[in-house]
Amino acid sequence: MTAPMRLAPGGRMWNFSAGPAVMPLEVLEQLRTDLLDLAGTGIGILEHSHRQPTYDRLLAQTMDSCRKLGSIPDDYEILMLPGGATLQFAQIALNMLPDGATADYPDTDVWSSKAIIEARDAVKANISVIFEGKKFKYDHVPTDGEMTPTPGAAYLHYCSNNTVRGTRYPTPPKAAPGVPLVSDASSEIFGRPIDWRAHALVYAAAQKNCGVAAMTIVIVRRDVIARPVRNLHSMMSYEAHSKAESRLNTPPTFAIHTAGLMFKWMLKEGGPAEFARRNAAKAQLLYSVIDSSGGFYTGLSRKECRADINVSFHLPTPELDHQFASEAAAEGLDGLAGHKDAGGIRASMYNALPIEGAQALAQFMREFARTRG
Ligand code: PMP
Repeated sequence: MTAPMRLAPGGRMWNFSAGPAVMPLEVLEQLRTDLLDLAGTGIGILEHSHRQPTYDRLLAQTMDSCRKLGSIPDDYEILMLPGGATLQFAQIALNMLPDGATADYPDTDVWSSKAIIEARDAVKANISVIFEGKKFKYDHVPTDGEMTPTPGAAYLHYCSNNTVRGTRYPTPPKAAPGVPLVSDASSEIFGRPIDWRAHALVYAAAQKNCGVAAMTIVIVRRDVIARPVRNLHSMMSYEAHSKAESRLNTPPTFAIHTAGLMFKWMLKEGGPAEFARRNAAKAQLLYSVIDSSGGFYTGLSRKECRADINVSFHLPTPELDHQFASEAAAEGLDGLAGHKDAGGIRASMYNALPIEGAQALAQFMREFARTRG
């Protein structure tokens, strides 16, 4: 194999994986230290009990940094729950959607489709699909005019950033009057500011902007927790998790600690508004190569709702897609093969990917188009 030519700091690959995903070198180095000795205790993070003062402090600091980072109002509670975002697809309906009631679900790509299926399986309620993105090959998220939200719905669930084909809502969708939003922000949380007042609940799997897989951050208005719509097994109940302060059972302590380090890092770097600026600049580099490639690269999403974080496109043939991803990897640019449902190429550029990574990829794209176009 020829040596990679475009290495990231620390002699590492530029990582464009959709998740688990790139993390800042300084956070990884801190974790290496904490594996052996957390905060001078002589015991590593993997070995600490979740019922001891060291973990009490760690959890309090993690929650505090999360609240500061997201500017999360006091009437919203932060839960750090086991299970991926996929578990939330059912858990949200179980906690918030009474039997016989309606919830609105625009279907905008793989993850919102899965949320619809899981919610339907979980409760005897009406999961109303108010936008069918499949008809458009999921190339855009709906404008408000393309949906008819249900008056009196329990909530409107949407996926704010669609990880697979790289679409995102420029602004949150408009639910019927008085109906709260529930957002799957897995692939963009803390990548841009959130309008909390419009939302009853925002959730995100941690393995993209916040560290380790199988832990999910659920930020939920306290009145929703206080008014569960049915009796639930404790592990499915927000109320039970809230009463137990996110340690109803042995929590994913390593993932929670890592999220805490990621929150502190994101705070230090300037928070969601700064990351929105950086992510737009990174995305612009790639979209401008796509738009000026004379049709060699074709984006999967309409321009008005292109995601900054996941840039998805294809080349003239699947063979060229494959060549592109493997030659890029040989040069130090990894994780570019598209999701199996969409094919093509996907560059995921989470908060931890520096602009130099996007520059290296843009340069590779230009050269590849010049030599194969
Ligand atoms: N929602 C979105 C938007 C995602 O991108 C993903 C994972 N890629 C999920 C949900 C599912 O997350 P998990 O695998 O943690 O269940």
